[in-house]
Amino acid sequence: MKTSIATVSLSGELPEKLEAIAKAGFDGVEIFENDFLAFDGSARDVGRMVRDHGLAITLFQPFRDFEGMPEPQRSRTFDRAERKFDVMQELGTDLVLVCSNVSPIALGGLDRAAADFHELGERAARRGLRVGYEALAWGRHINDHRDAWEIVRRADHGNIGLILDSFHTLARKIDVNSIRSIPKEKIFIIQLADAPLIHMDLLYWSRHYRNMPGEGDLPVLDFMRAVAATGYDGYLSLEIFNDQFRGGSTRSIAVDGQRSLIHLGDQVKRIEPDIAMTVPEMPAPVEVKGVEFVEFAANEEEAEELALLLRSLGFRRTGKHKSKEVTRYSQGNINLVINTDRQGFAHSSYAVHGTSAYALGLKVADARATVERARALGAEPFEQRVGPSEIKMPAIRGVGGGVVYFVDEQSDLKDIWDLEFDSVRDQAAPKDAGLVQFDHVAQTMNVDEMLTWLLFYTSILKAKKTPMVDIIDPAGIVRSQVVENEAGSLRITMNGAENRRTLAGHFLAEKFGSSIQHLAFRTNDIFATAEALKANGFSPLQVTPNYYDDVEARFGLEPDLADRLKATNILYDRDEHGEYFQLYSPNYGEGFFFEVVERRGYKGYGAPNAIFRIAAQKRFIRPQGMPRRGKDIRA
Ligand code: MG
Ligand code: MG
Repeated sequence: MKTSIATVSLSGELPEKLEAIAKAGFDGVEIFENDFLAFDGSARDVGRMVRDHGLAITLFQPFRDFEGMPEPQRSRTFDRAERKFDVMQELGTDLVLVCSNVSPIALGGLDRAAADFHELGERAARRGLRVGYEALAWGRHINDHRDAWEIVRRADHGNIGLILDSFHTLARKIDVNSIRSIPKEKIFIIQLADAPLIHMDLLYWSRHYRNMPGEGDLPVLDFMRAVAATGYDGYLSLEIFNDQFRGGSTRSIAVDGQRSLIHLGDQVKRIEPDIAMTVPEMPAPVEVKGVEFVEFAANEEEAEELALLLRSLGFRRTGKHKSKEVTRYSQGNINLVINTDRQGFAHSSYAVHGTSAYALGLKVADARATVERARALGAEPFEQRVGPSEIKMPAIRGVGGGVVYFVDEQSDLKDIWDLEFDSVRDQAAPKDAGLVQFDHVAQTMNVDEMLTWLLFYTSILKAKKTPMVDIIDPAGIVRSQVVENEAGSLRITMNGAENRRTLAGHFLAEKFGSSIQHLAFRTNDIFATAEALKANGFSPLQVTPNYYDDVEARFGLEPDLADRLKATNILYDRDEHGEYFQLYSPNYGEGFFFEVVERRGYKGYGAPNAIFRIAAQKRFIRPQGMPRRGKDIRA
């Protein structure tokens, strides 16, 4: 398979776009006429620039309102076509995209359109060019690829073919199996786009909300399986109109695009091993068995404060690294590591972000295969020098420049704790609070990074995304979406902040970037945990009495239970699967916190409670020396 992307999908000037496209590993690029017109150089210059980057021009577009015109407009469209052909020859591309006519004066009729295309085919053939016809979902007479194909078939010309665009087909819910009977040599190129499911005008939806395959909700995989069934092995070309992408990071959107196509090809190949499409070889998506550890970077003073908070949560100091200033705290199957070493990546991370949870350690079936897959999907590998008593732990760069480590049970990585750490007896061990495992890891990021990391996790790991929910902060909306696996052993919640007045936005601004903002631990008995925490001197985040009155009424709780919740500051939620109990630590630093949860069958994350939690956290921040004015954290 060869990959391509339309210049319109990215932000920036043409030279910047081409550089990012080439760097991300694409083979080709669709040149949008406006990108060419806005560029201060000739078509020949553009063509040369593209080829200097090692890219091919896969097509030139768009050519609008062509077929079925009455005279005198008909003659004029042919004149226009000849001028486009001139530009194409100077650019050095042989394919132009003609999208179905939207003009109110266009006349219908398959044969009339077919005759126009036959004549256009004759003119194109004289110059060795090809014309691809695409049905726009809002075309005046042709808005279905099956009709476009019928016109191409009747045009019966070797230089006239079909262009399929997943958005136009899927937005109208056209049966993708109708693609399977189209001869592959008549498909001149495949354009791909996904989109979130939003009910709105098709044109508006298409021009503003398209996104990369796998980032939205359309069945692009089904579309691609039907395409692959024809034997097609040409370019897969992204044509993404998205307001956010046009204002986003050119380089990162290009990387996302290439990743989305490679991932799509890999998915098709795993379902249909016999397809003609050549897909890069890589290990299968990786099953995550759990979060093995989270590592904090800190200085000595802050490490002590953090350790105090961990102790109050029932964590014991269990290990000291053999050669580095790194301490391990444990409880149940939870490992937290505090790194105060003056060398290495943790230290540079501390220098930029201050104390933060910069690394996530995931337990997988095969750690090395995971990194191999991640690299095939364009992830950046992470390596640093290892000391004599250390094992090289496979890792990649993750959210906010942090690190995702992988451990497994099939290599020496299974003994990592014994090999790298001396076990210590904690003289002042706190009371075990019954925390048994990580429940979820919450990462906060700018809202326009969310799709990037969603695709990152769901392409590398065996995991799915849940629908986006809005978290109401008194100062704005925070978008929240979860990456999780079937077993519930991987749960990463991603929160996208739109402004810095929300708690998430404040955290981002103060941390100088995206990072883990909270860790949730699972208990099997939250009331027993609450008691143990109290004995350890832990004081939970205080929730208002009004909240409990409302919860009691809303869920029809027994007054006894409501009283117990209130006395312990435990939040409550319920879904069709069961009940959920949550309690929170106060903020540590600029908005980092811990959460304790008990799930009684419940599948969600307590989103309805977030507004109460956030309000309480903001009240808590206030007396801690936060100025009333100047800092804008409070709504
Ligand atoms: Mg298109
Ligand atoms: Mg949570």
